[in-house]
Amino acid sequence: MSIEVHNLSRQFGSFTALHNINLQINPGELLALLGPSGSGKTTLLRIIAGLETADSGRVLFNQQDSTTKHVRERHVGFVFQHYALFRHMTIFENVAFGLRVRPKKERPSNQEIKRRVTELLQLVQLDWLADRYPHQLSGGQRQRIALARALAVEPSVLLLDEPFGALDAKVRKELRAWLRKLHDDMHMTSIFVTHDQDEALEVADRIVVMNRGQIEQIGTPNEVYEKPASPFVYEFLGQVNLFHGRIHHGQAWISDLKIDVPEHATTEDLDAIAYVRPHDIEVNRTVSGEPALSARIIHILAIGPAVRLELEHADKLTKNTIYAAISKERFHELQLVKGEQVFIKPRHLALFPNH
Ligand code: ATP
Repeated sequence: MSIEVHNLSRQFGSFTALHNINLQINPGELLALLGPSGSGKTTLLRIIAGLETADSGRVLFNQQDSTTKHVRERHVGFVFQHYALFRHMTIFENVAFGLRVRPKKERPSNQEIKRRVTELLQLVQLDWLADRYPHQLSGGQRQRIALARALAVEPSVLLLDEPFGALDAKVRKELRAWLRKLHDDMHMTSIFVTHDQDEALEVADRIVVMNRGQIEQIGTPNEVYEKPASPFVYEFLGQVNLFHGRIHHGQAWISDLKIDVPEHATTEDLDAIAYVRPHDIEVNRTVSGEPALSARIIHILAIGPAVRLELEHADKLTKNTIYAAISKERFHELQLVKGEQVFIKPRHLALFPNH
């Protein structure tokens, strides 16, 4: 099922929750709506679902205008952050619910319901919990049951609103990988809302970055991370260092460090802010010919595959701490210790005008 959103807007009183949203979702795609709290993600998801109406604009399912279609006619399955399973029903009956309440002529036989529910419980790897009640399950298990319940009615589209938001970090991570795999097996068009960058980067085919009711950028995880379209996307998608810079006579500078003008940047003279990701900062013990910025190591964090360095710029070019991430091998090669002076150079950066 493909989904198209055209010129969608929604006001709540004088507040603009969505402003002229345009979006195209391919069949079988797993799309993340990513943005800070209040950016309009849930409102957009609810309008696509048919749970909320737009003031203007259209929603198309498989090229057919579905803007005024009732939620039941859209064949969507939902999973919310706090999906209330029915407390008085067993896990089996919770999953069977959507099938049991179907109009009589569409309702499968009891035998067929048993077969389908068992199959779904196997799919979410919880068939051994069929006779338990929701309060006897962990939060992660409950969310997997919520997903099985959403899938029971064979929706054409799956909509998930912060499905793992209430769970602890470890369970979240497990469920992310599991959702990705489930999606790959089933190939159902799916949209999930999250404010967690890592979740979106890890799970989605494409990410829609939202800010104040508008789309800042749409792209693959790699595109939005490596080529952010705006300062907002740069800062929202991961840790980033900001340096004051300038473009002068077609040449870019940070302090007296000459840098290549990034291809997206204008060559007109301007004051600019340079955005550099920690892993794009090269760290050296000595200066190798070209100029570099000197900095002092104020903290070393060696957990995980990369070593993170916190640095202080010698000339206070930026009063912010500079974060660099280097490989363990490089760290051992350089034999760095806290308090030492090093030389740093951005390998890759983006320049945006300093308004
Ligand atoms: P969160 O991550 O916090 O859930 P979100 O990006 O999903 O945020 P929305 O829930 O879509 O954001 O809300 C967008 C804005 O619209 C918010 O400022 C919210 O207060 C406002 N809003 C949403 N629903 C209503 C409503 N029914 N009445 C008034 N304002 C609303």
